Amino acid sequence: MIANYGYKDGSGEYYISIDTDKCIDCPVGRACLTGCPKGMFETMTDDYDDEVVQIKQSFRRNLAYDCADCKPSSNRPPLPCVVACTPAAIKHSW
Ligand code: SF4
Ligand code: SF4
Repeated sequence: MIANYGYKDGSGEYYISIDTDKCIDCPVGRACLTGCPKGMFETMTDDYDDEVVQIKQSFRRNLAYDCADCKPSSNRPPLPCVVACTPAAIKHSW
């Protein structure tokens, strides 16, 4: 399942998508949990009793602000969360 966390407002759409099918047997030991400097990811048990990863509730309405340090307006480096998740389960809409 693709789970989307975020929001849109007058300035744009800010969503982080997680392909939770890839989290069930994560081959990199849930590297997203420690890879994000803000600690925005957490584990949860989904409706099918599988352990997957989600964005913590407290961050879901502030993604543009909370991810800003990882997203300078020029010379943007690879995002730490995306680099950590080699199965490529994480995508950002902006
Ligand atoms: S590293 Fe990627 S695949 Fe593994 S738990 Fe985190 S988001 Fe899911
Ligand atoms: S862009 Fe940075 S702050 Fe945002 S989720 Fe990824 S690692 Fe965390």
